Amino acid sequence: MTPALIVHGGAGAATPPALQAERRSGLTAAFEVGWNILVQGGTALDAVVQATVTLEDHPLFNAGLGSCLTEDGTVEVDVSLMDGTTFQTGAVGAVRNIKNAIQLARAVMTDGRHVFLVGEGAERFAREHGLPHAAEDELITERQYQRWQAQQTTGEPGTVGAVALDSAGGLAAATSTGGVMGKRSGRVGDSAVIGAGTYADSTIGACSVTGDGEHIIRATLARTAVELMRGGKDTAQAARTALAHLTRQTQGEAGLILLDPFGRSGVVYNAESMGAAFRSEGRFVVRI
Ligand code: ASP
Repeated sequence: MTPALIVHGGAGAATPPALQAERRSGLTAAFEVGWNILVQGGTALDAVVQATVTLEDHPLFNAGLGSCLTEDGTVEVDVSLMDGTTFQTGAVGAVRNIKNAIQLARAVMTDGRHVFLVGEGAERFAREHGLPHAAEDELITERQYQRWQAQQTTGEPGTVGAVALDSAGGLAAATSTGGVMGKRSGRVGDSAVIGAGTYADSTIGACSVTGDGEHIIRATLARTAVELMRGGKDTAQAARTALAHLTRQTQGEAGLILLDPFGRSGVVYNAESMGAAFRSEGRFVVRI
């Protein structure tokens, strides 16, 4: 089976021209990392995790390094990960001081006792599993600090996510974010919530979502989009219908990426822009 991969860099206001080239190259690098895993016969799960690590490490995306700040000026990240073949999931919410929270979500998944850890308990779990610690200010970029100081809470994109299909037919999905600028400490958004921000079922499809977390949770958007593909229904149409459902139900702004077990893709958003990188009909496409 031919593998497939989509990575996204968040939906929201248009990326300022000065940042466009760097964001485009970040998405390209993340795609290449995931794609190399898939073409070498690696799993969809490894591909989405490593693509997400690449974007968490990139300072211009709102995940890991470069995350938005809370109202208290701290970084708290939300992440979720799902393997569509085993239905294993791992998620963490409102976690501080962790360099790559996607690795923490994966450790939660592998450990298997629980599926969702938050706050201090998740941080303790990270220490116990030897995951790289980051001092608070190591994750804060000058750019995000200035946006926070200016109380610039409106919608620059930057949440990251990926969906992949591997050569064995497995689907997986991942999403990682610093959330929304100026959020209350302790707020957890859709990116940590399986069924809202992330969902995968290898018999139907995989989805990663970005946008207004409170609205996306209410619409259980990722699961809704995947269910709309049940029975082999058209992927792009399912993505559009899911988004229309969100708009009708909550007036929320969002974007989502979808893949089905045949590698058919859907990338839709109702925000001004959404960054994404994928292959379509054998050609690589990156847009911001
Ligand atoms: N969905 C994320 C959240 O609400 C933010 C985003 O995707 O831009 O935390």
